[in-house]
Amino acid sequence: MQQARILIIGAGIGGLTVAIALGRRGFGVSMIECDPDWSVYGVGIIQQSNVIRAMHVLGILQDYLDAGVGFDHVDIFAPDGRRLARVPSPKLVPEHPANVGIGRRALQAVLARRAREAGATVRLGIEATRLDDDGNGVSVQFSDGSTARYDLVIGADGLYSTTRGMLFPDARQPELTGQGVWRYNFPREPGLDALAAYEGPIGMGLVPIGAELMYLYVTSPEPGNPRYPREGLAQAMRDKLKRAPPRIAALAAGITDDAGVVYKPLEWLYLDGPWHKGRVALLGDAVHATTPHLGQGAGMAIEDGIVLAEELAQQATPQAAFTAWQARRVERCRYIVDHSKLIGDSQLGLRPPVDQSAAVRGMFEMIARPL
Ligand SMILES: Cc1cc2nc3c(=O)[nH]c(=O)nc-3n(C[C@H](O)[C@H](O)[C@H](O)COP(=O)(O)OP(=O)(O)OC[C@H]3O[C@@H](n4cnc5c(N)ncnc54)[C@H](O)[C@@H]3O)c2cc1C
Repeated sequence: MQQARILIIGAGIGGLTVAIALGRRGFGVSMIECDPDWSVYGVGIIQQSNVIRAMHVLGILQDYLDAGVGFDHVDIFAPDGRRLARVPSPKLVPEHPANVGIGRRALQAVLARRAREAGATVRLGIEATRLDDDGNGVSVQFSDGSTARYDLVIGADGLYSTTRGMLFPDARQPELTGQGVWRYNFPREPGLDALAAYEGPIGMGLVPIGAELMYLYVTSPEPGNPRYPREGLAQAMRDKLKRAPPRIAALAAGITDDAGVVYKPLEWLYLDGPWHKGRVALLGDAVHATTPHLGQGAGMAIEDGIVLAEELAQQATPQAAFTAWQARRVERCRYIVDHSKLIGDSQLGLRPPVDQSAAVRGMFEMIARPL
């Protein structure tokens, strides 16, 4: 199948990764992205040893590390600010960091450049409005009126994937969890050499994402999914931090710019059953969207892309490749979605408290397994 022409719908983290992995193997890759500005919101992301391994496999590790900041531990704090544990993270690529904090824009810039270098084309402001799979190929109609035919299509169009809607109109829909996450960038604290995670009904933490930059996140209960207007967001985020331990409370006073606050209600989705139909497959958040409690959503999308390219290169038919790919992915994607949700539910008081150090250790064990 190495000659296959593949359309990737969605040029986010998962779409760009699979584009790099396929391009490096000689597949012909075209991408479409609905956002004409290809914008990314300006906060960062936590990535763990499995992503460092993935970037190594993709041959882009140094570029990626240069765009973020590496660290080797997760510090767990009690709600009152006492440090409970320093959990070492396993290294999967020797001589390189175990974890990385990276700005989302910085990550996209690296992936986009490498996807283009691997031969992928990207058309912005375009959607696929219709997919006709006749068994030998997929004819695609685009929102600009053009049409094209591909051997395979990959839907990497995120939580509200329209490709999923076209493939599986009755599939379950994303569900709100009852929590929201607030994020705000700050100058990096001197000495912040780990992810600092605070336990408690309001989860919070500090993530280094550059030599001089870190972000603060706060996970709050948001029953009824309230709407927060842009004006007043900084005050709303400060209100969530009223009972924060001293280190975080001191930072909270500096949350003053409404435009700098990024708020998102949390949602999750796990698609039981197939993630593919005929010549079309879905990856990343389109089929397994996790809450961020273990910092692994993007990691799972990235791994999906690498494994899918491997199987497409090895198997004789798309169906065999998609089936083998999903079989390799379900256990760990399900684990991440379920265990992340457990932490969120415990923060909401819906189940007994989760030992966060144990949860982080369990996650590290799972993601260290071979892909
Ligand atoms: C608050 C929060 C914090 C998070 N923190 C972390 C973290 O620290 N670490 C981590 O690993 N993960 C984290 N995640 C999860 C991570 O962001 C996602 O799992 C990851 O972005 C999924 O990648 P994706 O490519 O599947 O989807 P996306 O990144 O959402 O990309 C989808 C792309 O498809 C495009 N698109 C959508 N519809 C169409 C269409 N119809 N046609 C064409 N293009 C389309 C979109 O514009 C977008 O560019 C977090 C998530 C949230 C909500």
